[in-house]
Amino acid sequence: MQRISNYINGALQSPIKSLYLDNYNPATGAVYSLIPDSDEADVDLAYTHASEAYKTWRLTSLEERFMVLNRIAELIDKNNDELALAESIDQGKPLWLAKNEMTRSAQNFRFFATAAMQFASESHNMEGQAINYTLRQPIGVVGCISPWNLPLYLFTWKIAPALAAGNCVVAKPSEITPMTAFLLSRICMEAGLPAGVLNIVHGLGPKVGSALVSHPKIKAISFTGGTSTGKHIASVAAPMFKKLSLELGGKNPNIIFADCDFEKALKTTVQTSFLNQGEICLCGSRIFIERPIYEKFKAALLLEVSKLQVGNPLLKESRIGAIVSKMHFEKVLSYIELAKQEGGSILTGGTSLKIEDHENGWFIAPTIIENLAYDCRCNTEEIFGPVVSIMPFDSADEVLEMANSTDYGLACTIWTQDISKAHNMAANIQSGIVWINCWLLRDLRTPFGGVKQSGVGREGGWEAMRFFTEPKNVCIKL
Ligand code: NAD
Repeated sequence: MQRISNYINGALQSPIKSLYLDNYNPATGAVYSLIPDSDEADVDLAYTHASEAYKTWRLTSLEERFMVLNRIAELIDKNNDELALAESIDQGKPLWLAKNEMTRSAQNFRFFATAAMQFASESHNMEGQAINYTLRQPIGVVGCISPWNLPLYLFTWKIAPALAAGNCVVAKPSEITPMTAFLLSRICMEAGLPAGVLNIVHGLGPKVGSALVSHPKIKAISFTGGTSTGKHIASVAAPMFKKLSLELGGKNPNIIFADCDFEKALKTTVQTSFLNQGEICLCGSRIFIERPIYEKFKAALLLEVSKLQVGNPLLKESRIGAIVSKMHFEKVLSYIELAKQEGGSILTGGTSLKIEDHENGWFIAPTIIENLAYDCRCNTEEIFGPVVSIMPFDSADEVLEMANSTDYGLACTIWTQDISKAHNMAANIQSGIVWINCWLLRDLRTPFGGVKQSGVGREGGWEAMRFFTEPKNVCIKL
């Protein structure tokens, strides 16, 4: 059985204690590879090499950084098929979707390679008295921790800006989906990334992740994952005065006004609800539909969803693949049971599915629930699966109150042809990201992140470059 390795000091390495964890294929429910069960000692080793490499990397010219990061992007593109296949097997997502994500992972490196070349320090002139300039220096060795839903995409979304800004990195991908991060190690070796600049340590969150967060010399942590993990990380890192970026959970509203472009809202709502089995932090799991079109939209949505094929992620006709792990599969199903107890009516789905030749895989039918109170647990807690709730509303004020009623505030989608209403809603919705008449349209320069319990800080563009640097002001008296 394939054993994946840590990537430390530019080489593939076994974990120090030679312990391994099972890695499952969610579409078959079977173990198909082994991943290092690393611990504090492996993190410490990675840190030692990263801090050594930092002495050179921080002084490496921008052109050189640009070129090596670009080479990584090129190699990700060149190996798109192999990476996408690995991602689909490891995560359960359809292969066609994994291919898009691999392209986007390459774009992360390309985008931040270019950012490194453009990022500049600021200067503030005090007329006749003094001149200030602000150096933006790399932090040193930083830690990056990523989740299982968009494995390589979210991993590279952190690593690329960290490296572009001149830091060295110790990174931990999710133990549930480690495979593409492992393949990235090989790509970094082929691209000629100097040894120790990026180190990837595989293993469990409470062991490897925790060792990264509590490491006294790792000065910044960029984390994407669940809100409760984020809360724990903050409680450890804050008293150590570490810089923290937390991208956490969501319970995003998808608000459909009666004056929307019906067909576009409908087609996109199928995506916002069920793309990647609903396992995207930006999915719209609470669908608010203005009453005059409620019944019509509901019927049309049910018809569209009935056409979605759930199946083997490797088949091109499968629109929905497998749920990432048995634990998550059971969690999603338990929320469907809870919805019934909370008075919800299951309009479609609501069960696990047995797929031919994949009977032990973790598949759940796309599920639409009606009649749930907007403030019940199913409508306020993150389910993170192919489960949405639909609710009617009568006015913009009412829907704003319902949409803002959760502890989360990551993203929101609004469908209306009325430009004033759109602006008003965007200004008053409590979320870090608002999409109007679209969803998941991403410009990598824009700030990305959430408010309330969806996170602290922003990623993307200059926000990421600023996070991964320390500003130092130098004031010169004239
Ligand atoms: P998770 O919090 O369980 O794990 C995320 C990562 O943290 C994993 O690598 C895990 O091993 C590690 N980890 C776990 N315990 C840790 C600890 N004590 N110390 C340090 N690291 C630890 O999240 P998940 O289940 O992998 O991912 C799903 C969650 O991620 C959802 O809540 C989703 O909304 C969120 N998410 C947010 C965004 C965003 O941009 N806001 C993007 C994707 C996913």
